[in-house]
Amino acid sequence: MGYYSDKYEAVIGLEVHAQLLTKTKLFCADPVFFGAAPNTQISPISLAYPGTLPKLNEAAIELAVRLGLACGCEIEERNYFARKHYFYPDLPKGYQISQHTTPICKGGTVSISTSAGERDVQLNRIHLEEDAGKSIHDLYDDYSAIDYNRAGVPLVEIVTEPDMHNGEEAAAYLTELRELVRQLGVCDGNMEEGSLRCDANISIRPIGSKELGTKAEVKNLNSIRFLKKAIDYEVQRMIDLVESGETVKQETRSFDAATETTFSIRTKEDANDYRYFNDPDLPAFVVMEDFKQRVKAALPELPKERKTRLIQQYQLNVKDATRLASEKPWMDYFEAGVKAGASPQQMANWMLGLIRSYLNEQEAGIENLSLTPLLLSQLIALIEDGSVSHTVAVQQLFPLLVKDGGEPRALAVSLNLIQERNTDTLSQLVEEVLDRMPEKVQEYKKGKKGLIGLFVGEVMKLSKGKADPKMLNQLIADKLKS
Ligand code: ADP
Ligand code: MG
Repeated sequence: MGYYSDKYEAVIGLEVHAQLLTKTKLFCADPVFFGAAPNTQISPISLAYPGTLPKLNEAAIELAVRLGLACGCEIEERNYFARKHYFYPDLPKGYQISQHTTPICKGGTVSISTSAGERDVQLNRIHLEEDAGKSIHDLYDDYSAIDYNRAGVPLVEIVTEPDMHNGEEAAAYLTELRELVRQLGVCDGNMEEGSLRCDANISIRPIGSKELGTKAEVKNLNSIRFLKKAIDYEVQRMIDLVESGETVKQETRSFDAATETTFSIRTKEDANDYRYFNDPDLPAFVVMEDFKQRVKAALPELPKERKTRLIQQYQLNVKDATRLASEKPWMDYFEAGVKAGASPQQMANWMLGLIRSYLNEQEAGIENLSLTPLLLSQLIALIEDGSVSHTVAVQQLFPLLVKDGGEPRALAVSLNLIQERNTDTLSQLVEEVLDRMPEKVQEYKKGKKGLIGLFVGEVMKLSKGKADPKMLNQLIADKLKS
């Protein structure tokens, strides 16, 4: 069954550009610095003055290899840079230095989690290239302005196979990828500032068909929400076209955030001819085995490994493990709580239930929660040892603790919420209630066992809601046996 229709399947491949967190540009020592005044982070090299030559920045290679290894890619040993020619004012050389026949990383996967479950999205390649400058068309009435600060900033382009089938999957992929590049220190992942940019290639085909349909490419989606909206809109547009007997044109489109629709910016009559050839100014560079091993050894624990550990070490189910593993601060919070004594499953339940919805509401991160892992473990302990009921913990203590922090037991005491668990006290209350309703007691003894709820309720009232309901049930049942 299709996600959008029972006749057509959507096919999506993403191209993501990520600016690498190097100090300097890919082929010269100009600083890489976002937000600097226009045309201050430039030199004759990034402006392509005659006679200047590029010199490769090793830090960029290391970051690309780091990302490739984290995605399980094969790393190309012998790499060439190619010139990709096109004319554009923000491209001073008249060509972009990119990789063409030898992308530094090949294959690999990114694991995603959607409402349909867990799966791996197949990557085609990750290659290194330089960014272009920026044309600014809305600053002056009669001119366009150009800022060359970005020219030559190192990028990796991460290209997937046409392997996704709806907007939700694409959004999950981009979320995972953004998290991954951040954790690896490869890119800051900031989509608003343009350090992570996404183009979506979209087509449809009849369900069951293996051939790819004609695609449209929606350029420069600068948020994950827009990516999903653009795909949903585009797929529906294509289905409507085909259903009304028309064909999908191969074209480049843009997303209009105001109307949440896409519009055509150019149709691709022919494939672009970029006249690629290896850049004669740059010799091949070789990724040595020991370099690769060094980068590999320094990789942090990745979401996939965290997930495995959550399942094996803490016996969580796959769903909980996936959700906790996807962001490192969540994993850290979880492990700190378990270390402080909470049971892993209780930690997971609280975090993925109440805490998650609270944080979503507040649009806040778990790092800044006043209810620290230690305090949450204390709250869980209060429930486990019967000091407070689960309901009291959820409805009364939790809302105060997430707002202001504080020690759970002290708070429960100060609010007079500690459950009455003294057998003598509870027995007295039980007797008082049973004495008051002799007929009901007789009915119960004759077999109307459902009346126990009434007795519990009455004793609860008498205790002002503080009796431990479990103990109460037991006490009443025992008393009525004799
Ligand atoms: P182009 O040369 O137009 O950039 P590529 O073959 O390099 O095309 O693919 C670019 C991206 O588009 C990749 O992510 C690829 O998976 C995706 N893609 C290619 N063909 C299709 C298609 N028919 N439908 C959806 N995505 C596609
Ligand atoms: Mg493309």
